[in-house]
Amino acid sequence: MNVKIEDGCIACGACESICDAVFTIEDVAVVNQAAVADNIDCVKEAADACPVGVIVIE
Ligand code: SF4
Repeated sequence: MNVKIEDGCIACGACESICDAVFTIEDVAVVNQAAVADNIDCVKEAADACPVGVIVIE
C-alpha cells in the first residue's frame, strides 16, 4: 500500500500520536513509506482520525 498526504495538512500531530512509526510532523506530516506495511492498522486509524481528511491510502 502507498500512503500520501494531500495538500491541506494543518500539522495537528494526531497522525504522529497514533502511528509514530509512519508519520512525522515537519512543516506538514510526512510518511515513512518503508514502515507502512508493518503498521497498516495504525495508518488506517490515523487516516480516520485526521481532522482534515488528507491521509490517503492507495
Ligand atoms: S492528522 Fe492530518 S492534519 Fe493532522 S498532522 Fe496528520 S495529516 Fe496533518
